[in-house]
Amino acid sequence: MSFFRPEILAMDGYTPGEQPQAGKFIKLNTNENPYPPPPGIRRAIEEVLDKGLQRYPDPMANAFRTRAAELYKLPSKDWVLCGNGSDDILTICTRAFVGQGELLRLPYPSYILYKSLAQIQGAQSQEVKFNADWSLPASFGDPAAALKLVFLPNPNSPTGTMISREAILELAERLPCPLIVDEAYADFAEFNCIDLVQQNEKIMVSRTLSKAYGLAGLRFGFLLAQPQMVEQLIKVKDSYNCDAFAIGAATAAIHDEAWQADNRRKIIATRAKLVAGLEQLGFTVIPSQANFVWCNHQKHEARPLYEQLKAQKVLIRYMNYAGWRDGLRISVGTDEQTDVLLALIGSLL
Ligand SMILES: *Cc1c(COP(=O)(O)O)cnc(C)c1O
Repeated sequence: MSFFRPEILAMDGYTPGEQPQAGKFIKLNTNENPYPPPPGIRRAIEEVLDKGLQRYPDPMANAFRTRAAELYKLPSKDWVLCGNGSDDILTICTRAFVGQGELLRLPYPSYILYKSLAQIQGAQSQEVKFNADWSLPASFGDPAAALKLVFLPNPNSPTGTMISREAILELAERLPCPLIVDEAYADFAEFNCIDLVQQNEKIMVSRTLSKAYGLAGLRFGFLLAQPQMVEQLIKVKDSYNCDAFAIGAATAAIHDEAWQADNRRKIIATRAKLVAGLEQLGFTVIPSQANFVWCNHQKHEARPLYEQLKAQKVLIRYMNYAGWRDGLRISVGTDEQTDVLLALIGSLL
């Protein structure tokens, strides 16, 4: 006999990418930023320490909310909900909208965590396959009685492809439930959907500081949504879901717009170099608007390449999507890391 709910026993559990704690790897497997975060976060963290940690943090992280509303041109802080990483935001939304036996929809292939969140709820998930050109079939917007939440990563992972703003507005108009546009990688893309939040309350945008701000170790993410949505979601979150260091550092980080613009420019330039290098080596690369690319070699299988690179201390991500294909997802690192990677692949082929 087991103590656990059957849903928990039945699920596999989400497996995050490898995070080796020892050994010197060139780490291009979990889409972290290769550059250090905005320098102002050091002072912000020291200020938290100086104030002391004996008190609880601001439960709403209002300093961050106020700055985020300004930066993203939203009417007030009431349009912002903060989380312990954007995975926390996704969890809060799933718990708030999707009950046992109800339905959560996601595109395929995309972020595997969405499915795990549905499983924990005892909910059903429905994966809708992208079209061959990486648009979505009309059925992605079809209403269904049990449908309570739709997730759409934009840019998508693992492909780096995007759905247009027009298509997203149209989806929200047709859907009977909220549509969470997961913009974990939108800072590297040509457009985003933040202003659409004001046009339709079903559109909610989730963001993270893990990728575009070099703060994966800090754990801070947030949701941009209409105030009547945020107001209900607050009831579901942990009271103190963001710690004092995270609130201080995240607020300092988004103040540094110059750092963000410079980082974005560097990553996009290195992405172009990575794509060109891979294509020259005989890979087919899906055009990406994120800080990673999905690729397959025309002759060599993906898994042995991943393993041989790992043996040489270069870590990329091997993924196998049932019903689609396997392949390699490579994060954009520094120019130097990219040179090492390309030279090493060249020597292995
Ligand atoms: C990395 C990632 C996240 C999670 O970011 P955290 O803020 O670190 O929890 C969410 N969605 C997608 C699609 C991601 O790739």
